[in-house]
Amino acid sequence: MSDLLVKNARFKDNKVQDILILDKIIAEIGNVRDSIDIPTIDAKGYFVTSPFVDSHFHLDATLSYGIPRVNQSGTLLEGIKLWGELKPNLTADALKERARKLCQWAIARGTLSIRSHVDISDPSLLAVEAMLDIKNEYKPWLDLQLVAFPQDGLIRAGSKTNLSKALELGVEVVGGIPHFERTMEEGTESIQYLCELAAAKGLQVDMHCDESDDPMSRHIETLTKETVRLGLEGRVAGSHLTSMHSMDNYYVSKLLPLMSEADVSVIANPLINITLQGRHDSYPKRRGLTRIPEQLRAGLTVAFGHDCVMDPWYPLGSQDMLDVAHMALHVAQMTGATQMRECFNAVTEYPAKILDLDGYGLKKGCKGDLVILQCMDDIEALRLRPARLYVVREGDVLSSTAEVISNLDLSGKKSSTDFIFSKP
Ligand SMILES: [Zn+2]
Repeated sequence: MSDLLVKNARFKDNKVQDILILDKIIAEIGNVRDSIDIPTIDAKGYFVTSPFVDSHFHLDATLSYGIPRVNQSGTLLEGIKLWGELKPNLTADALKERARKLCQWAIARGTLSIRSHVDISDPSLLAVEAMLDIKNEYKPWLDLQLVAFPQDGLIRAGSKTNLSKALELGVEVVGGIPHFERTMEEGTESIQYLCELAAAKGLQVDMHCDESDDPMSRHIETLTKETVRLGLEGRVAGSHLTSMHSMDNYYVSKLLPLMSEADVSVIANPLINITLQGRHDSYPKRRGLTRIPEQLRAGLTVAFGHDCVMDPWYPLGSQDMLDVAHMALHVAQMTGATQMRECFNAVTEYPAKILDLDGYGLKKGCKGDLVILQCMDDIEALRLRPARLYVVREGDVLSSTAEVISNLDLSGKKSSTDFIFSKP
């Protein structure tokens, strides 16, 4: 029985209410009597949210930065080369140790669900088995959803058998990388094969799709068509879609309504694509992030992923989804009030919808999962990326940290640091 009373939590509508969690489920939201004899925490009027959801990550590569050497150019191509150098020396123990550390970082920052792509190119499926072990080990604290990812190309690397084996072992989403196949035709063939496989097995699809600056990389068009042909509406996501940044505007005006009809979701990875794209440009340099505001306007579900933390492709990161949303907001110029709220949703409720998370939300009957942030609302969360005061999973406090306060406020006058450390 995991029961918890959270007093004085501030909701998105600015109302301050109590949340009663009984037997892991939100039983009541409102004014709950203090005398109730269960563990209680005081949110002190700070903002409460459902946990963050990372819809695109690579847990098998994470925290390997510097092994066997650092990425000197910082480019995608040197990253791929480095991963190739690292792969023969991977061990299950080392993979799991790094993944555990990352999961703990995620939990401490309030991320309780991660969709991770896992490389199935290696015939031993070492990484797949290691990540399945981590999924089971961390089940009490974190939902890990795994995608079978043919990183070296499904057709290019002959990975069909490995991919099927990974699905048999328990990997639950079908991945792909059509733009990395040898030709456009082979990219199309890979999409058809993978979508048919997903349809036959009743699985979701999430492909790395068009992660390039080439405006003619239009695999998302084929992925959209296959979604409709096979009746996969609502179960397919296109990750990255960076070529859309460079596509012809007229073509995109035709493409987005087709994606909307097919209910294809978008997962953008702003930290990674703002650093990796546009590398072949002189000035002006393209940003290479997909067209997020236009996709939202077209009615598409758009989520943001962290993608990498300290791996061959990205030397930074701390598994903080507010960093991800903060970057997306800036790069996509989403500073309108509603747009900023959508950026927060893109690391909470929108990815929860894509991952089809059961019982997600801050409502009676939902799972007792929540995060108390030291701020007053979602926009302030993006501005401050504040302390996660409490991270709660099914009524259990998994992680807590002290309120960050200014010690300059001794005179009782307003401190000049009030705007940094939010106070109710
Ligand atoms: Zn990725």
